[in-house]
Amino acid sequence: MDLTTPDDVVRAAAGADDVAALDAVVPQCRACPRLVAWRELVGIEKRAAFRDETYWARPVPGFGDPEASVLVVGLAPAAHGANRTGRMFTGDRSGDFLFAAMHRTGFASQATSTAADDGLTLTDIRVTAPVRCAPPANAPTPQERRTCGPYLGRELTLIGPRVVVVLGGFGWQALLTTLAEQGCAVPRPRPAFGHGAELVLTGPGGAELVLLGCFHVSQQNTFTGRLTPDMLDAVLLRARAIAGV
Ligand code: SF4
Repeated sequence: MDLTTPDDVVRAAAGADDVAALDAVVPQCRACPRLVAWRELVGIEKRAAFRDETYWARPVPGFGDPEASVLVVGLAPAAHGANRTGRMFTGDRSGDFLFAAMHRTGFASQATSTAADDGLTLTDIRVTAPVRCAPPANAPTPQERRTCGPYLGRELTLIGPRVVVVLGGFGWQALLTTLAEQGCAVPRPRPAFGHGAELVLTGPGGAELVLLGCFHVSQQNTFTGRLTPDMLDAVLLRARAIAGV
């Protein structure tokens, strides 16, 4: 499939009839030239610790339960994490922090996430991102977010989650934009992101959708204690309670 323009992305996302089809189409995408170049350069240059590994170096699809009641939305794959392993939040410290919390709160089969074939399974939860390629300096441009938006929009429609846990302000704004693009009524001015913020909307399928804000699991937050394991557990347990799972 030729996936080199924003229009190609719109068509490919709309044509995915189920989550498996969407997950199969995302890694073929080359619609953002800057991100394609960066993700592939990182995969060639590599970090010294991973020099014997073959990097995924492609867009990363969502990971987890295709019928999840809870969706976790981050920012974008990490250069030497998901861009290396091919699975969201897998292979870096952010993922270690997130999946350990999911394990403590009953969503993940194990506390560690080291490689795509490590046996980890998720129940009632799925992790995804508004931008599917690793960006330089973890900073996608507004245009790149817009180009990638149809994948998240389609994922929301196909899964129909009850709750979305949004990690960080970028994900919060990107998700609200995507929901607006899906025809959902988003309040104006837009409710601000904050840790513990809750926003009740009507989702793309017409059912109630609750957004829960959570500080991102980046090392900047977890190493400094801005986000502690107890804080993340509380958000995930709140999501579990709202979703009734
Ligand atoms: S960021 Fe999204 S739209 Fe852009 S190349 Fe990657 S997968 Fe395609």
